[in-house]
Order: sequence, then C-alpha cells, then structure tokens
Amino acid sequence: MGFQQVLGQDRAKALLQNALATRRIAHAYLFAGPAGSGRREMASAFVQALFCEKNGNDACGECLECRKVQHGNHPDLHVVSPDGATVKIEQIRTLQKELSYRSVGAGYKVYIIEGAETMTVQASNSLLKFLEEPPSPVVAILLTPSAQAVLPTILSRSQLISFVPGDREALENALVKEGKSQLLSRAAVNLSSGLNASRKLVEENWFADIRNVVIQLGKENPNRFTASLLQAQQQIFKTDLLEHVDVLLGLLALWYRDMIYAMTDRQGQMVFPDQADWISNTAWSRPIESWVRIMESALMAARRIKAHVAPQLALEQFLLNVREG
Ligand SMILES: [Zn+2]
Repeated sequence: MGFQQVLGQDRAKALLQNALATRRIAHAYLFAGPAGSGRREMASAFVQALFCEKNGNDACGECLECRKVQHGNHPDLHVVSPDGATVKIEQIRTLQKELSYRSVGAGYKVYIIEGAETMTVQASNSLLKFLEEPPSPVVAILLTPSAQAVLPTILSRSQLISFVPGDREALENALVKEGKSQLLSRAAVNLSSGLNASRKLVEENWFADIRNVVIQLGKENPNRFTASLLQAQQQIFKTDLLEHVDVLLGLLALWYRDMIYAMTDRQGQMVFPDQADWISNTAWSRPIESWVRIMESALMAARRIKAHVAPQLALEQFLLNVREG
C-alpha cells in the first residue's frame, strides 16, 4: 500500500516522504501514536517505498519488490510482535541473528517491532546495543502508543515520528465513500479507533438499533428518564443487545456531548446531526455542568463494563447518577 492509503497524518507522511526523496534514512524510527492512528499502515507504506525499485518518495505498487511487501513475503523485512504480553529478549536475539546475514537484495534490511512498549528490560537493553551499532544498512521501525512508553535511551537513538489520534473526519469520509450510512459512520468513528474497527461497527446489524434506542432515551424528560431507561433495559436484556451495553452507554455519552456542542456553537461536530433541532432546543434546559456530569457517568459505566462489572450493575449506578443530576 502506498502513502495515499494512509488516512490523515500529513505531518508524519511529509517527514517520511522527505526522507525517501533525499534518501536520508535514519537507522531507527519510533512511530508513536494511539491505536487506530495508522502507525502500522504507515510503516507498510514506508517500507514498501524503501524497497521499491523506482527509488521514489512513494511505492510504485507494481514492481517485484513492492509486490513482495504487499504479499508479506519480502525476505529483507522482519516483523516482531509481542509474544503473549511482552516482546522478549529471545525474540530480539533471533532478530539480530537474522539481520546479521547479508541482505537478499541489494538494499536495506528493515525490521518492525510492534508493541515496542511491551519490550522487557532485557529485550530493550539487547536492542539498544543493536541500535547503537547497527549493521548497515538496517532500518528499525518501532511502534508504540507514546514516546514515553519506551526507555529514554531507545527514544534518544530513534527519530520520533508522532501520530495524532485518528482523524475522525477523514475516517468518516472514507466510510461514506465505501457506501456506508453517514449517520452511522459518524457515530462509529466517535466510538472506536481506526478505520477497520469503525467499519466493523457500522456493519453490525444491531448498531443502527442501538442508535435508535439512544435517541429514544435521550429525548425522554429527565424526570421520566429513569423509568424509560429501565424499560429499555428490559428490552435490551431480553435481546442480544445486552452484549453491547458498553456501546449503548458510549453513544449516550455522545448524545450528551451533543448537548454541550449545541451550547458551545459546535453543531457541525454533532454525532446526532439528524436530531440537531431537538438537541438545540433542549440543551439550555440544564446548565452545561449537568450535561458534563451525565456524560461522564455514562462513560464511567461503559468503562466499568469493560472492566467486567456486570452490565446491569453498571447501568443501575449510571441511573443513580442521572437522578442526582
Ligand atoms: Zn515498486
């Protein structure tokens, strides 16, 4: 895949493409950014361009080298992922042995370490020596959620490429281009990170149902809200929507965030633009702090469910918080 297939991240792209154009390639890159920000896709694009026979600032996508990368069988590309919870010293040693052989092609050898933040101290130290005296020409790409998550000594020997959290507008546009509903796409990209996770959510049959339940609930008078949520809860607990109460709570939080958006003149960012009139008319019925509190308790309940608190218990706690306003 070429750089145009990586969504957003224009700054990171420019840095890497400039390095390719001038053939000033660093020994090691640290790709730091949250899950879903496209680090892995960017690494693929960069590696492919690096191997590409055209030697340009992007891969041609057609030459033998490009095709080998696309098919995941380029002999000079090595990918290390955490073995269980961590990247272990044995994995780094194996990697070093593989890299000590002459490259198959004429050019670079490249290795990618996914989850670099999970390297054990021994693995990190072993890699460190390697980063200091790389057998050239070897290029390392380390993927991590944040620069602070790796040892400072590793950070100082790498060129930091920062990724911003997934660009939601770009994600939404990409899904709409694929023919997905705009309303569902907007909700999905606000709930999950990255294109694949968002697409998966949009494609679930229950996702549109949950969005409708949230609109129903959101429009209830707060005084009747508890009763109606209990009713919805019964509906939910009877169906397979039960498995997705975290999504329901996440969407409810976004509904309340829309209230805040309506009060702060950010209607363009609403997740429920089809309900904008109702939301704008209702938002001012409560002080903004009250919406913030309700939104936070919905998010809290969603987090508790992810931490394996029983959904019913988490919902009840949420109801109590709403009642207290
Ligand atoms: Zn090529």
